[in-house]
Amino acid sequence: MTPTTSEAARIEASVSLPVPDLDADGLVDLFDEGPRLVGTRCDACGRTMLGDRIVCSDCVGTAVTRVALPATGVLYAFTRLHVGAAGVRALGYVDLAGDVRTLADLREDGQPLQPGLAVEFAVDGDDWYFAPSAGPAASAPAASAPAAADANLHANPHDEVEED
Ligand SMILES: [Zn+2]
Repeated sequence: MTPTTSEAARIEASVSLPVPDLDADGLVDLFDEGPRLVGTRCDACGRTMLGDRIVCSDCVGTAVTRVALPATGVLYAFTRLHVGAAGVRALGYVDLAGDVRTLADLREDGQPLQPGLAVEFAVDGDDWYFAPSAGPAASAPAASAPAAADANLHANPHDEVEED
């Protein structure tokens, strides 16, 4: 009897679609800033989400805007998959400036991965990945004495990477 039932079902069906995997198209697009991960910002509550959405996953508002996600982030956690002939694939969660966390391929570029590392978005042909930022992240002096555990805790790296 309620006329909104089918509309609600349509929205529910859209929201319930699985997140595309890393090989799927559509997660990266060319914006004014260059190639970036596609995000959606809620016009009502300001929440930013990964990918194209039609509904905010926080407040369920339908007024949303497609945005380019930040190119810089912080590595939250990672692992290495040993995949047959393909070799080792580093995979991790990256926290982008704002509140978006995404699963991503990682490239080490000679700098060892560790949680808290500042990383940067990049594309290589059809692949996209995050790699350690070229910035001033290397804070550990090459001393042989074991540093205090605090030395590995980087103060909020978000503060350093504001960019227009
Ligand atoms: Zn919202």
